Amino acid sequence: MYRMEDVKIRTVMLNLYYGKKRALRDVGLCVRANAVTALIGPSGCGKSTFLKSLNRMNELTDGVRTTGSVYLDGTDIYTPGADVTKLRRRVGMVFQQPNPFPMSIYDNIAYGPKIHGIKKGPVLDGIVEKSLRGAAIWDEVKDRLNKPAGRLSGGQQQRLCIARTLAVEPEVLLLDEPTSALDPASTLKIEELMRELKKRYTVVVVTHNMQQAARVADDTAFFLEGELVEADRTRTIFTHPRDTRTGDYITGKFG
Ligand code: ADP
Ligand code: MG
Repeated sequence: MYRMEDVKIRTVMLNLYYGKKRALRDVGLCVRANAVTALIGPSGCGKSTFLKSLNRMNELTDGVRTTGSVYLDGTDIYTPGADVTKLRRRVGMVFQQPNPFPMSIYDNIAYGPKIHGIKKGPVLDGIVEKSLRGAAIWDEVKDRLNKPAGRLSGGQQQRLCIARTLAVEPEVLLLDEPTSALDPASTLKIEELMRELKKRYTVVVVTHNMQQAARVADDTAFFLEGELVEADRTRTIFTHPRDTRTGDYITGKFG
């Protein structure tokens, strides 16, 4: 469907089991670099599970077994001996509920770079500013970097969390329903930000909101009961889905 050189992530026969429960079924999906890919489907269909399998976050849950492959730039991230810490730095994740650390705005952003050994004030200052600018929140916080991050609004906290992810220079951003806890104005800001972020990163976003997928996603993948039903350009998915279940879901017949 896509040119190989445009593909950032490719899953092949990806299966995931929570104990005996099979949550992903032979999922094969290509994610294009420098594009926004939306994952849609009813609650419980495996969207979050799939997203977390892209940086091996699922392994933090007991009893999870994964089979199949996830290629990042052509290399299988599930190869034995793969460096998972490095992987999670390359493939960063932002969750539904903004989860700033209980510390200042500055320290939230500096946290990751510090762990990776950047201690110098001016270098760190530069990273903090660049990350906050990258997440379109710099102007709102530049005069109160030492204030607790918890005092920001929900929408600002979510952009702060995106900035925190950007601070360690990822290549891929995984966003799991990043706007579902936000008001409409903050939601539009995050959507605008996604369109900006894709210029430099590969973005995969889970959304419950069809309008959001239509507004921000270049490609859309529809999941149902752990299966990838179909994936294509968003326009195609919304106007000419190949599978009747996709059309039924998009037009609100179930879900
Ligand atoms: P979605 O994000 O599309 O709502 P999930 O990926 O969260 O779906 O869940 C997919 C399926 O896996 C659901 O049936 C869910 O109940 C199950 N599941 C998710 N997390 C766990 C877990 N930690 N342990 C057991 N089952 C889980
Ligand atoms: Mg979910």
